[in-house]
Amino acid sequence: MQRFEEIPFPKQLFIDGQFVDSAGGETFPVVYPASGEEICRVPLARDEDVDRAVRAARRVVDDGRWARLNPHDRERLLHRIADLIETHAEALAFLETYDTGKPLRETKMVDIPLTIQCFRYYAGWPSKIKGDTIPVRGQFLTYTLREPVGVVGQIVPWNFPLYMAAIKVAPALATGNAVVLKPAEETPLSALYLARLMAEAGVPEGVFNVVTGDGETTGAALVRHPDVDKIAFTGSTSVGQQIMRQAASHIKRVSLELGGKSPHIVFADADLSAAVKGIVSGIFYNQGEVCLAGSRIFVQKPVYEEVLERLRDAARNMKIGDPFAEETTFGSLISEEHRQRVERYVGVGVEEGAEVVEGGRIPPNCPKGYFYEPTILVGGHNRMTVAQEEIFGPVAFVLPFDTVEDVIGLANDTKYGLAAGLWTKNVSLAHNVARALKAGTVWINAYNLLDAAAPFGGYKMSGFGRELGEEALDLYTECKTVWTSLR
Ligand code: NAD
Repeated sequence: MQRFEEIPFPKQLFIDGQFVDSAGGETFPVVYPASGEEICRVPLARDEDVDRAVRAARRVVDDGRWARLNPHDRERLLHRIADLIETHAEALAFLETYDTGKPLRETKMVDIPLTIQCFRYYAGWPSKIKGDTIPVRGQFLTYTLREPVGVVGQIVPWNFPLYMAAIKVAPALATGNAVVLKPAEETPLSALYLARLMAEAGVPEGVFNVVTGDGETTGAALVRHPDVDKIAFTGSTSVGQQIMRQAASHIKRVSLELGGKSPHIVFADADLSAAVKGIVSGIFYNQGEVCLAGSRIFVQKPVYEEVLERLRDAARNMKIGDPFAEETTFGSLISEEHRQRVERYVGVGVEEGAEVVEGGRIPPNCPKGYFYEPTILVGGHNRMTVAQEEIFGPVAFVLPFDTVEDVIGLANDTKYGLAAGLWTKNVSLAHNVARALKAGTVWINAYNLLDAAAPFGGYKMSGFGRELGEEALDLYTECKTVWTSLR
């Protein structure tokens, strides 16, 4: 067990290769969600600090050294970052659990390995990013170049702090951009650790900067800064809308990964044991604080009762408690405010006619911290608040359905379109439904799978742009066309 005090990470902003306090000296508290206790304080970055970070990034973009770095050297650098994260994996996993309250077994087995995979995957790209020659009319040689966008502001949420940062930082650096990263105010610590590793890896000063603070202060300062060329944002749809509006004034590039209310469908012929496992991980993994959580569960009528019973059993058997205990599978929610939000949604569900058949309480064995039981609601319809609004917590809403056409209609009856899952042994049904679903990712007989090589992103109000995979390179490059006369 690593004690928090023993984890060697800096508690300052990282600007232009230096760890520094905020100009005004202000700080804010960081809380361990499983106890509610303050564990440290970090600087609150205001306009002046954000401006310093952006100017540092601008300098390194404008002098061209970083963008023109030999691609093989860039690859080596990204591999070195991945190596260092690997070396520090244990400490990073502990830090992430202190910051989020999620089980250590998950930060060890999921958050940190995915982060390493992401840096390794993008480490392979710099020598393969290329333009095309275009067969135009007339005597010209016309070709395209892929150039970095420039200074990129990256704003991430608290549910997978380091991994969300890696998804943005790794492709941005692979394509030669300079980054100013703003982690969520609830979970700023692993980004600061990453800054330490970036410095150790030899990332040039100004290429990677971290500013900590809340959205209204630090995030908004980054979004309105005129010298930021692009904002890459992951978070709620409402903040995504604000960012789009603000970015319009300078026509900043924007990419948005937003909320979800993903449908998870079980057809009567499915392997029910596998389906139930998938559904449980789909909604209760990471305490349901997952953008792609399968929170609307549609079960075909002949197997509805059986699936519901099995789900209830599985929810009852989750091990809630101390995130550092080996057996814990379900940790704390991120904050008291968020727990109250989840409770309010369950209350609204009941007012609108749903019934709580499992959970719906603060677990009696967890009097401290922000725990909330895995909760299952039934009864009602897809237009109810709990079926339409993202709860971002451990609340499953289970609904029966009759036909394939019915469930496609229900699944798509949402403003979101991030992900969807379906369980059946019928191959043609599976692929036909996958095509009919309006979602950026569809899992067939699986759920919650991500890979650095597989693009990920949303339809509709879940955002636009695709992160991960080759697609993410488009988010961080401009395409320049060069015409040369051959006459
Ligand atoms: P949030 O939108 O409140 O905050 C996200 C980030 O934006 C934080 O860093 C926050 O400080 C910052 N922020 C808040 N207001 C801002 C403003 N006005 N200007 C600039 N930055 C601002 O979201 P959250 O509560 O931290 O995270 C939960 C949300 O994130 C959920 O809706 C979830 O679905 C979404 N999410 C989406 C994905 C995805 O890939 N699509 C992944 C994870 C989380």
